[in-house]
Amino acid sequence: MTVTRFAPSPTGYIHIGNLRTALFNWLIARKAGGTFILRLDDTDPLRSKEEYVDGIKEDLDWLGLTWDRVERQSERLDRYAEAADALRAAGRLYEAFETPTELDLKRKKQLNMGRPPVYDRAALGLDEAEKARLRAERGGGAWRFKLDQARIEWADGILGHISIDAASVSDPVLIRGDGQVLYTLASVVDDTDMGVTHVVRGSDHVTNTATQIQIMAALGHGHPDFAHHSLLTGPQGEALSKRLGTLSLRDLRAAGIEPMALLSLMARLGSSDPVELRGSLDELVEGFDVTRFGAAPTKFDEEDLRPLTARVLAARPYEAMADDIRAAGVPDDMAPAFWAAIHDNVRTRADLAGWWALFRDGRDALAGAEDPAFVKTALGLLPAHPYGPESWDLWTDAVKDATGRKGKALFMPLRKAVTGQARGPEMARVLPLLQKPISG
Ligand code: GLU
Repeated sequence: MTVTRFAPSPTGYIHIGNLRTALFNWLIARKAGGTFILRLDDTDPLRSKEEYVDGIKEDLDWLGLTWDRVERQSERLDRYAEAADALRAAGRLYEAFETPTELDLKRKKQLNMGRPPVYDRAALGLDEAEKARLRAERGGGAWRFKLDQARIEWADGILGHISIDAASVSDPVLIRGDGQVLYTLASVVDDTDMGVTHVVRGSDHVTNTATQIQIMAALGHGHPDFAHHSLLTGPQGEALSKRLGTLSLRDLRAAGIEPMALLSLMARLGSSDPVELRGSLDELVEGFDVTRFGAAPTKFDEEDLRPLTARVLAARPYEAMADDIRAAGVPDDMAPAFWAAIHDNVRTRADLAGWWALFRDGRDALAGAEDPAFVKTALGLLPAHPYGPESWDLWTDAVKDATGRKGKALFMPLRKAVTGQARGPEMARVLPLLQKPISG
């Protein structure tokens, strides 16, 4: 039974970077007919907010990434305490009292001497009396996991064979001096308790994975399959971390990006398969293979979402757009014809209102005309309003007869006169939608 999880900390909204993590884990679970858990990593009471919990759920809902259950770390503190006790009993957890400033100083010294800034384990040398004195002076210490200084290896689903020398990694703090359990321990306990079989996360977690494999072993467990996806960069390869704040799913949603556009791009970007617009989540599941992804940073350009969004909309049947079309003010009896006319010409749903305003109010046909005399002549040859399906052909035939123009020289000035644009919907479909006679 495949079990995956998406484990955001509710300290912010989902952005394009962690969407990838959510999507990959969701796709793996759905492809295998397994379970997808939404796990809220909310052990930090100061930074975790209910508003973000709601926001994360809303964003996943919007995308259709359904979860089978929700787990909250803040409700599992007892389990983490038990695990900590077990590690203490096994001699794998030790108390360390250095302040952040002291640790910083140690790191600087090591770096100055050209050594890796790995925690020196000074706390392992403290005897009980010294610890009691430090505890009295400084309060409880932080609890560090004593790594077994061997190589930690695993077959990564994306990165291939990974081998990390544990001696080059600091013993991770699992519990802070104030008693707060940190992610490194909580995640291990959850992944084992919940039977998680596959963990996909960003490559910024590779070192965590190494330590977590040892912690799992120390608790008597094997580990899930790990895969670490590359991190996203901007189109020029620039770091995206600072911009992620503006690339939240809610911003993209507000900008009119369609879920299937976003999902289709993210399910393929950075893989050796081409990006293909998918019509449904099922198709996305079908075409997904995590092993096709590469280790190199993945370039993301938010502009790529726009043509995909336009294509998603163009392919939508009227029924799927009816509510939006009504909301744009289009009367019900005209709505299907309205959609048939413009479906290839909407960039986002927000364009619906603009098209309807044009059809309802019309525009000054002479405004900006390159050839006002020609447009004036054409206006004199208009069929009677309301226009029907033949009106465009009747009109352009009459203009052609009167002026001798044909082809683009005939059609383009008329299109521009009616719509104000050089490109757009089929004019024969536009005319019957015009609520007022064309005038200028
Ligand atoms: N809360 C962690 C994060 O958002 C989860 C990482 C993981 O998937 O284990 O980075």
